[in-house]
Amino acid sequence: MFKLLPVFYHTVSDEYLPHICPLYKPKTIREFEADLEFLLKHFRPVSMEEVRLHTTGEKRISRPAFHLSFDDGLREVYTVVLPILERKGIPATVFVNSAFVDNRDLFFRYKAALLAGFMPEALKINYLNREKLDEVALNLGVDFNDFLQKQQPYLTTGELKTLQQKGFSIGSHSIDHPLYSLLSEEEQVRQTLQSCAYVQNTFAEKQAYFAFPFTEAGVSDGFFQKIFPAVDLTFGISGLRTAQNGRHLGRIDMETYGKNAKQSVYKAYIKGFLKKWIY
Ligand SMILES: [Zn+2]
Repeated sequence: MFKLLPVFYHTVSDEYLPHICPLYKPKTIREFEADLEFLLKHFRPVSMEEVRLHTTGEKRISRPAFHLSFDDGLREVYTVVLPILERKGIPATVFVNSAFVDNRDLFFRYKAALLAGFMPEALKINYLNREKLDEVALNLGVDFNDFLQKQQPYLTTGELKTLQQKGFSIGSHSIDHPLYSLLSEEEQVRQTLQSCAYVQNTFAEKQAYFAFPFTEAGVSDGFFQKIFPAVDLTFGISGLRTAQNGRHLGRIDMETYGKNAKQSVYKAYIKGFLKKWIY
């Protein structure tokens, strides 16, 4: 069991990222390379196409394999991660939010992180009342557009096209990263299908891959039935677990689940085995 290990990160950086570091600590380059070393020792890196063929049964993966993915479409995937993966010959997927590509807007959690130094309660503001973050920023004189211009936290369309040419797959991560359990099913479907269509139209991706923003928790079977005619595979954060006849795959969170890849993977395996015994 668990021949295929889908793992995900957001970014890799040796620098302090003011929009991310108040939320969680990304891996440094050295930590990321150590993770890859562990993964490559025990698993074979596979592309998203190999994952898809495995799930459809067209070409099953026989040796333990991992697929690497990066959520949120962050710039360091181009500047830091790409050279490392190119050197090691590892394919990967980047899941983007259609509203944020080209630094057109900023994820509400990143806004909260930028305000947290002045007002820690900003971190408690959720997707549904996210406009409060803009009000607070105005009062504090924090300019998110200025931050987007100067920091350029997101990948551009051009960078994504280069990533694609170098073997990355591009998937969707919703329009603007809501917590799905707070949305109506209609809005969940709209966020998913519109962002998938954006990726397919902009990057001419043949398949549609979707990674849930935050978590797949609280999403109904009805949602999957509505999106599956248009979406090939969905990805969550629930570790080693598949659902929806193999078309929804859990992934291992490599940033917060353990202190290094070995610990994250072992924890996920143990949890996976326990689940099998208990249920
Ligand atoms: Zn995300």
